[in-house]
Amino acid sequence: MSRAAEFVFPAPAVPALQIAGRSALFPVRRVYCVGQNYAAHAREMGHDGRTPPFFFGKPADAVVPGGGRIAYPPETGNFHHEVELVVALGKAGANIMRENALDHVFGYAVGIDLTRRDLQAEAREKRQPWDVAKGFDCSAPVGQIHPAADTGHVAKGAIWFKVNGATKQSGDISDLIWPVPDIVSTLSRFFMLQPGDLVFTGTPSGVGPLQRGDRGEGGIDGLGTVAIEIV
Ligand code: MN
Repeated sequence: MSRAAEFVFPAPAVPALQIAGRSALFPVRRVYCVGQNYAAHAREMGHDGRTPPFFFGKPADAVVPGGGRIAYPPETGNFHHEVELVVALGKAGANIMRENALDHVFGYAVGIDLTRRDLQAEAREKRQPWDVAKGFDCSAPVGQIHPAADTGHVAKGAIWFKVNGATKQSGDISDLIWPVPDIVSTLSRFFMLQPGDLVFTGTPSGVGPLQRGDRGEGGIDGLGTVAIEIV
């Protein structure tokens, strides 16, 4: 069979991120996320900060390249920001050794894990999945990718989030419970990782609500910023 596939309607476009200093785009395949990877955030979520981080996911088409205007999502009254270091993978692998993990990293970006906190709390209480709390439309704004080949790997540096100019989240990448090599290595035991995969690495403390009309901006030293406006 050499005939090109025919679809009953047009196949969805591949979400793609800009890469600093390059004209080619980064095509997004999957979005993995790490939960409770900063002890101070785990504590503010009501945990003792000693349980290991864990994984969840968002659909690739939840990515909003470059941020911008985001509609306040339906079915929530407590819509939260979580600024995060995003790791962009450039090489496939499974069962990756920690010491080789950074070879699989293409680059880094600033992302916002937008969360319906009320639905997350309800899911927790009922021991139900997090999809409606985490994986909704436009729940993953991501800024430009900065290639590791240009900027090096990211193991420290300030990470922050401002709402209407006021700092709400302020932390340092060096406080990650699982640093990037541990995340990539551990994730690769559970999934065959591929180029195009993104990993949200968890948020520092200070998460809080966004309202219609709010302007949010997240940044990480050396990786620029991503800005959103809630409409
Ligand atoms: Mn998060």
